[in-house]
Amino acid sequence: SGRWARASAIIKELEEKCGTPTGKLRQVADAMAVEMHAGLASEGGSKLKMIISYVDNLPTGNEKGLFYALDLGGTNFRVLRVQLGGKGRGIISQEFTEVSIPENLMVGTSDALFDYIAAELAKFVAKEGQDYQLPPGRQRELGFTFSFPVLQSSINSGTLIKWTKGFSIDDAVGQDVVAELSKAIERTGLDMRVSALVNDTVGTLAGGRYVNQDVVAAVILGTGTNAAYVERAHAIPKWHGLLPKSGEMVVNMEWGNFKSAHLPLTEYDHSLDTESLNRGDQIFEKIISGMYLGEIVRRVLCRIAEEASLFGDTVPPKLKVPFILRTPDMSAMHHDASSDLRVVREKLKNVLEISNTSLKVRKVIVELCNIVATRGARLAAAGVLGVLKKLGRDAVKDGENQKTVVALDGGLYEHYTEYSKCMENTLRELLGEEVAETIVIEHSNDGSGIGAALLAASHSQYL
Ligand code: ADP
Ligand code: MG
Repeated sequence: SGRWARASAIIKELEEKCGTPTGKLRQVADAMAVEMHAGLASEGGSKLKMIISYVDNLPTGNEKGLFYALDLGGTNFRVLRVQLGGKGRGIISQEFTEVSIPENLMVGTSDALFDYIAAELAKFVAKEGQDYQLPPGRQRELGFTFSFPVLQSSINSGTLIKWTKGFSIDDAVGQDVVAELSKAIERTGLDMRVSALVNDTVGTLAGGRYVNQDVVAAVILGTGTNAAYVERAHAIPKWHGLLPKSGEMVVNMEWGNFKSAHLPLTEYDHSLDTESLNRGDQIFEKIISGMYLGEIVRRVLCRIAEEASLFGDTVPPKLKVPFILRTPDMSAMHHDASSDLRVVREKLKNVLEISNTSLKVRKVIVELCNIVATRGARLAAAGVLGVLKKLGRDAVKDGENQKTVVALDGGLYEHYTEYSKCMENTLRELLGEEVAETIVIEHSNDGSGIGAALLAASHSQYL
């Protein structure tokens, strides 16, 4: 009937617009490498901020003692304590707690957010058992993982450039986030020093390096997305400080803000961006990361409901609610292996209050999830290829037997299997078999928190 023809036409158009043939992905990877160069050349030289992290030494395995970490990501934050054993002994013990951030605090004041975080931190410390003891007279030290763009001025200071991922707290922008956290910690009466401020990508890189010396880059695919890698310090023209002894510097790319004419964007992406809290920013993030994939699917479904009456004569009201379809729901539907697609049926009923769907309609929905996830995953792979190109690790060098490990983390990567499989397969496809053999993607489980604790240890005031 006309209804189905219209629906098919909309889906076909979406598929075309979301197309990521290999040639396009190579253009995206090349553009990424070009922007990396530009961002390293001068401050503000590119959409990629290429932030100098002040981490010029990654963990060696000799880190020792009790350290804390606080990981503030998108929707949750984690507090952890880690007892590091020193040379060859690794992590002796670790404990963590995870707390969700109340939505009102994501758009409130800086003090309200940091007071909440500091209070949770103080609770965590108060519940500490006897097996975690600091040497007498020694102050507790913390690594602060803060997954938003910060212009660092040292290993433990930096000002917030802007919020992303649904956060919008105006009075925090331009402030030193370590000072804000430290003041809040003081207000709770806790005696703790923030020794390291790290982006989650930098933490993941550090955590990854602790377990595998071949780790040279880290990528986060979670609520948002970002990457960090180890650069040669003399290849950073905008760095005017002393050359570090190691000759290296970890760079936080802030790749979520990448944008290129080669990115396949649709009308749905444009309207999502226009209606977002950070219009014009984070375009790469808005098409590949967990905060947005479900929302893109919802927007397409809404259009099909309006123009092809996919769910009957009226558009189901819930379908019009922005961000109601979350990426975990989308991945559950995408992964539905039952013959009657009963997970899709349940999600439609419970999340969107749409009942009595036909199998044919449910198949359309799985197809939509597949189109949107595939585009995201293939573009993420192109981003990784861009970083490998910049590192000169996208080709096999004669006579060398070099391994390159990229640490990956984030809820999207971890739980959305179709997405991560597609990303890894695409990377192999782009690299070709011979090179692909030398590149390893390693899941760095919670590396960002442990990495921050490790960096707090290597930047301890007691060293
Ligand atoms: P953050 O990025 O906020 O620091 P995580 O790395 O834990 O936190 O990622 C959480 C994000 O991962 C969620 O916002 C969601 O987008 C995505 N995610 C979590 N679980 C799933 C899932 N089962 N399927 C798909 N995406 C998921
Ligand atoms: Mg995180």
